[in-house]
Amino acid sequence: MNSTIACNGKGGIKVVIADQSSDPCVRDCVEIHEEVHRDEAIAFNPQVCARRPDDTLIMALPHIGAPSEIRASLAEIQCYLRKLAGLPDCHSCRPKIEQAIGDAYDYMEKNRERARRFPN
Ligand SMILES: [Zn+2]
Repeated sequence: MNSTIACNGKGGIKVVIADQSSDPCVRDCVEIHEEVHRDEAIAFNPQVCARRPDDTLIMALPHIGAPSEIRASLAEIQCYLRKLAGLPDCHSCRPKIEQAIGDAYDYMEKNRERARRFPN
């Protein structure tokens, strides 16, 4: 499963980080990506998780559409670039972060293409 957002059973939204993104080299930036979705979901509908049980996935709302993915990926990439700038050249996180930047960039481009083909 990919990282996502879900209801927390108390009316709020929690970020759920996928196992493959739990590495401390990248986890904080994946959290920033999901926090963009969380903030946009709450802005769209503050009641989105009212009376919903814990772990209810939040789907089929504009905050998970391509434009939201582009915004979330940009925030994630900026986070990685900030981290890289603070690491020495030999740091063991560097290759993982560079890989994550490439993946996030590809994902963002995929969503740019989706946004072009299916404009709102
Ligand atoms: Zn996303």
